[in-house]
Amino acid sequence: MIANPLVSVRTLTKSYGHKVVLNRISLDIAEGEVVALIGPSGSGKSTLLRCMNHLERQDSGCVLVAGEPVGYSLKNGELHELPDRALSYQRRGIGMVFQGFNLFQHMTALENIIEGPIGVLKLPRAEVEEKARHLLDLVGLADWADHYPSQLSGGQQQRIAIARALAMRPRVMLFDEPTSALDPELVGDVLEVMRTLAGEGMTMIVVTHEIGFAREVCDRVVFMADGEIVEQGEPGQVLSAPVHERTRDFLRRIL
Ligand code: ADP
Ligand code: MG
Repeated sequence: MIANPLVSVRTLTKSYGHKVVLNRISLDIAEGEVVALIGPSGSGKSTLLRCMNHLERQDSGCVLVAGEPVGYSLKNGELHELPDRALSYQRRGIGMVFQGFNLFQHMTALENIIEGPIGVLKLPRAEVEEKARHLLDLVGLADWADHYPSQLSGGQQQRIAIARALAMRPRVMLFDEPTSALDPELVGDVLEVMRTLAGEGMTMIVVTHEIGFAREVCDRVVFMADGEIVEQGEPGQVLSAPVHERTRDFLRRIL
């Protein structure tokens, strides 16, 4: 039990047509906790992350971040879907990094990072730029501010995407297979940035097949299959001594 979770997923259910993709998922995450979410393709990991920042609308249940229902406001005991502006303001607190980087191609690395803080948070440009340069430094790309995404390797683009998410000063960072699209030699630098973030106390939920990262950096591993959490616990336990046959089977396949 986590007394005061930063993120609380409560009986979240989501179907596409007749297919139940998330089946009453509940998951609490403490502030500063780093959680690896693993599971076979199609088990609902991306859908769970996308519901966490309301890119996807659940059928029932809710996600709370810092006590606020994501995507909704609570009025007179009823949930009302947030209008777009309020939603994008709320999303500032929930950073998301995708497998495919999703940078704006016509903007430089620096411009990608400062766009949100200026456009959504309405912060002054000078302050935002200074922070952005710190973030470029954090992700090891201080000299690449003026480059366009097409001039950067996949690993560099992903590190810019992480800096861009961090520029919004999120409470929690969601990573959806952030290294899956990268050439093997570029994976390490991205994982290193994530390791640094974890060390700084960022709350993180990471969908990944990088079992070494899960074991060394994460506080908890959650194994999902068929829209349900099958098993979770300390990395050493789940990864080395899984209780469930489905977890054992999955790990045998990927290791
Ligand atoms: P994972 O990330 O674990 O691979 P997903 O959350 O992407 O799994 O998908 C879970 C299931 O939901 C899969 O069967 C997938 O085909 C289905 N699914 C995901 N997104 C959609 C969508 N937009 N429309 C219909 N089915 C979808
Ligand atoms: Mg996925």
